[in-house]
Amino acid sequence: MGHIKGFIFDLDGTVYLSDHALPGAVETIAEIRARGLKCVFISNKPLEPGSAYAAKLTRLGIPATPEDVITSARVLLAYFQRHAPDARIFVIGEPPLWEEMRAARLRLTEDPAQIEYVVAAFDRTFDYRKWNIAFQAIKFHGAHFVATNADKSCPVDGGEIPDCAGIIAALEATTGRQVEFVAGKPSPLIIQTGVEQMGVRVEECLVVGDRLETDMVMGRAAGARTALVLTGVTKREHLAHAAAQPDYVLENIGEIQRVILGNQ
Ligand SMILES: [Mg+2]
Repeated sequence: MGHIKGFIFDLDGTVYLSDHALPGAVETIAEIRARGLKCVFISNKPLEPGSAYAAKLTRLGIPATPEDVITSARVLLAYFQRHAPDARIFVIGEPPLWEEMRAARLRLTEDPAQIEYVVAAFDRTFDYRKWNIAFQAIKFHGAHFVATNADKSCPVDGGEIPDCAGIIAALEATTGRQVEFVAGKPSPLIIQTGVEQMGVRVEECLVVGDRLETDMVMGRAAGARTALVLTGVTKREHLAHAAAQPDYVLENIGEIQRVILGNQ
């Protein structure tokens, strides 16, 4: 196998957990950069802009710019800018996401007759009013229906909270329409965005993450190599039941130095 030139890192459970960098994360990413190799960070969470994740990484000892962090919201924004820059959009999401969309000069509206795209996002303020606006637009005005991410739940300190899959399901169940595409993992859109930004070929990339059903499935489907880290949701015993095995199984991100960088 050829050398790896680009690294696509999941964040939660891979680079950090809550407010701590995981073992070896700081040194590994410094070593990747010192060798002139590329890396980007990806997150399905549309709750905060990339700049917030970049600030957190920097605080944990991994200097990062907003461009280094590709969120599902940024992928969706890029999609609109490229394919539907003038579309009128209704977002079921939290205020930082509206702000990002406004800053990208996208047009937001709450009038069902005007809405051309409904965006379902992770929204902890989801209510009947938003649901009904989206319902009217999708069912009676032919609006497109897209989503930032399709995670069932989001890990938080002490447990999990419901995520965007529930909002997608509420709209699908009531309108009879299926979501047309999802921007976040395991969608190929988010990995394409990372690969384009790094300027490498996807076959030269390693996707590093802690989830089999998103990180590993996405990497494999896109044609990248995959490394599962055991510092997040997946334990070694889960691997026996996995449909697709990752190329590498690492105790933590720090093992990249020995297993990958040490051999190229
Ligand atoms: Mg993760």
